[in-house]
Amino acid sequence: MLRAEVEALPAPAVAPEMRECAHIKRLLELLEGDPDFRARAAAGTTPYAQLAADAGLDLPAADLAPFFQAPEVARSPLEAQQEWREAFAANPLGQVWTAWAAEDTARLKAFISGLVPTHPRARAWRARRLARARSDAVGLEDVGYFPLLAFELSEGCSVQCWFCALDPGRLAGVFAYTAENRRLWREVLGHAWALFGAGCRSAMCYHGTDPADNPDYFRFQEDVVDIFGVLPQVTTSQPLRDPAWTRTLLDMQRQHPDSHHRFSVLSLGMLRRIHQAFSPEELLQVSLVMQHKEALGRRVECGRAASRPDRLAAEAGYRQAQGVPEAIERQTTCECTCGYLVNMVSGRIQLIRPATPSARAPRGFETLAEGCFRDGQEFRAFLERTVADHMPEHLGPDQAVRFWDDVRYERLPDGFALTSRFRVQTLRGNAHLGRLGDLIHAGSHTTSQITDALIEAGMPVLDAVAALDRAYQSGVLAEG
Ligand code: SF4
Repeated sequence: MLRAEVEALPAPAVAPEMRECAHIKRLLELLEGDPDFRARAAAGTTPYAQLAADAGLDLPAADLAPFFQAPEVARSPLEAQQEWREAFAANPLGQVWTAWAAEDTARLKAFISGLVPTHPRARAWRARRLARARSDAVGLEDVGYFPLLAFELSEGCSVQCWFCALDPGRLAGVFAYTAENRRLWREVLGHAWALFGAGCRSAMCYHGTDPADNPDYFRFQEDVVDIFGVLPQVTTSQPLRDPAWTRTLLDMQRQHPDSHHRFSVLSLGMLRRIHQAFSPEELLQVSLVMQHKEALGRRVECGRAASRPDRLAAEAGYRQAQGVPEAIERQTTCECTCGYLVNMVSGRIQLIRPATPSARAPRGFETLAEGCFRDGQEFRAFLERTVADHMPEHLGPDQAVRFWDDVRYERLPDGFALTSRFRVQTLRGNAHLGRLGDLIHAGSHTTSQITDALIEAGMPVLDAVAALDRAYQSGVLAEG
């Protein structure tokens, strides 16, 4: 039924290597998300070539073994993976995939490296907050995508996933593309661009909303392209809802190859229907984010999921019974916005940062400031006020200085080391740095007291100021 509804897009013209990559990607999606496919592969009774052919994959049979072995290998200790890595590196198909993945990663890294706010306070604040997020909550290294601006173009979400970390209410309204709303939207984008410049290129137009809920979604996206010069990244749980909408989404992405879209997969049936509806080539640049219980990856469990221990326990029981492996170290939040969360329907605006879920941050983000706006000037005033109040470039002289509470401190002969959930950071070089670490670790001194103590101990003045600032800019000091 859905296959008939969702007409396959005309297959994009792709080079032969790209076609191979698209089919490899689909093979990996099946291994990650389809337990029946995994079980057939693990049983060892059906040749890999037959398994691939049954799934409609056009791949050379002789080169398939390392790909089928990948899920098992990924769960073994690193030292036990060496033999497989060598086989993969020598495999012609492995080489095609590795080259494509490296090129894709390099392109994404280059794009992300340009997403820096031009405002010096916002630039420094984001760098500190992202360093902190990578240490305690997200665990990604340099390829993470962290929007400075997340615009919600609806109020609530029609999908209502039981596990939604952001826990939105039911769909209560959409921001229609009327003349008045268009004017406000473009003013909002213009003010953001005037303050933050290229940092705005990380913006996305969803948060606790699904893009497909707003019938005018692409018209708003076109304004973003016009003012920010990029097509915002899209994640949707409804790629099967309206074939014309999805067709437009994919077409726009092809015109803006820096933009990488994602489909959330809510069930095994949905994975299979997506694979039926879209060819591997059509989805080469679209990530499938597997949220169903049969998938190898695990979703974040906060927000609404945290209020459903019964369902979490049922899923855990299923996974244990079926031998679906647990991820070794899971990130604690799915929040990636580090900046402004803006709802265009209600005019609500918040300054937020990713955070490990807690009573203060039940949905995996912490709100540092909140307000509302009715026009472009009020929107801009909120941005300027929060930049002034919440984004210092440097420590103030009377500011109390301490490490984040969850960071484990270790004194070293020539500095100190800090261990957090996902990272170990060190500041080393001479004994003065060890003294600096002890002073911060004490948690009872101000900026001036620490630099004075270092200077008294013989550290050159500029070095003392610079060392404390270096610790501050690396995101290891607690901030409100
Ligand atoms: S996960 Fe996405 S689609 Fe599902 S309820 Fe939350 S915002 Fe909506």
